[in-house]
Amino acid sequence: MMLIKNGHVIDPANGIDQVSDIWIENGNITGVGKFSGKAEQTIDAKGQIVCPGLVDMHVHLREPGQEWKEDIESGSKAAVAGGVTTFCCMPNTQPRLDHAGVLLQVIQRAEQVGLCNIHPIGAVSKNLEGKELTEMRELVRAGAVAFSDDGMPIWHAGVMRKALEYASSFGFMVIQHAEELELTSGGCINEGWISTQLGVEGMPAEGEDSMIARDIMLARLADAHYHVAHISTAGAVQLVRQARTEGLKVTAEAAPHHFNLTEEEVMNFNADAKMSPPLRTEANRQAVIEGLRDGTIEVIATDHAPHHEDDKRCGLSCAAFGIVGLETMLPVSLELVADKVITMSDLVAKMTSNPAKLLNLKSGTLSVGAEADICIFDADKKWTLDRSKLFSKSRNTPWHGKKMTGQVTHTLKGGRVVFSDGVVYD
Ligand SMILES: [Zn+2]
Ligand SMILES: [Zn+2]
Repeated sequence: MMLIKNGHVIDPANGIDQVSDIWIENGNITGVGKFSGKAEQTIDAKGQIVCPGLVDMHVHLREPGQEWKEDIESGSKAAVAGGVTTFCCMPNTQPRLDHAGVLLQVIQRAEQVGLCNIHPIGAVSKNLEGKELTEMRELVRAGAVAFSDDGMPIWHAGVMRKALEYASSFGFMVIQHAEELELTSGGCINEGWISTQLGVEGMPAEGEDSMIARDIMLARLADAHYHVAHISTAGAVQLVRQARTEGLKVTAEAAPHHFNLTEEEVMNFNADAKMSPPLRTEANRQAVIEGLRDGTIEVIATDHAPHHEDDKRCGLSCAAFGIVGLETMLPVSLELVADKVITMSDLVAKMTSNPAKLLNLKSGTLSVGAEADICIFDADKKWTLDRSKLFSKSRNTPWHGKKMTGQVTHTLKGGRVVFSDGVVYD
């Protein structure tokens, strides 16, 4: 029996937000409340927040195919160091997660590593080419929990319509990387004053908005669940808000970088601030924050995208898109609470129960009987991010050297301490 005592327990799935004890037996939560009795192991969580292990529905592992950037083991370590115990991995590996065999391999390897629940997102189209649909039923049987071609948009309207129809017949969502390539290809940062100043090609906000507008029409036609990945523009937030008002099954996630940073980060040609969609203007950042505040955006997800230095130190135009995010998700997102945009409980919901609900996962709750996947953090702890200390194999973060408030102190997976005070126990 293990006891976590005196922590501020936040479990949005059960409406709990109070100082409480949690006790654990055989890997499961057996009680939440006031504990009296004897425990073999005790974690004193006084002054700390105790919440479900975080759920990140948007992660790029580079295994199979590019293990020098990240593999299932290093990605799992980065996850638990960031308080994440469940995550979804995107299909743009080599080979793609577009057939059952490769999904089963990833799941098996994840179980061997044993640090996190890892759920693959199945590819919508073969080789992510956007032309021919995968055998979606087989991917579901193999363990896929949703569908996406992320990294690439599902650009063909007919393919998108069919994908939405099939996915909804399994009760699954289609996750769109919304980017109209006719408007964005060749671009490397947001299109605007800064792209002009730097003399590089830009990606206009309309490249994101126009595809989401089309997709919402298709979601209405197919009566299906459509999910916008990494939403980054004011126009996109407004489109999703409108669709939800209409009662459509349209949901969205925002990545911490899009509500924390603006395009100014790339002013010195910083490739560690290059991602797709790009960092936008302050007005767009504020619109994403407003979407988080009013509930239009239900989920915070990292879009963790590890890249080797060689893929980043070759000039802004040629550098790969993406940043690592698992180990900075919580402190960066806590700024929303410090800025009084949302409550701590709302924030925890966007990183636990909300994504779990959208994906029909059992994770993201501290219910009695649930697996004891738990994140304990000190919301006030101040520290400075040093990228050389990341557990990820890659170092591509725009927050290197920046001050953070809030730090994970313990991560538990199935009742076992897998991370505490800076050390991963695998
Ligand atoms: Zn994407
Ligand atoms: Zn992505």
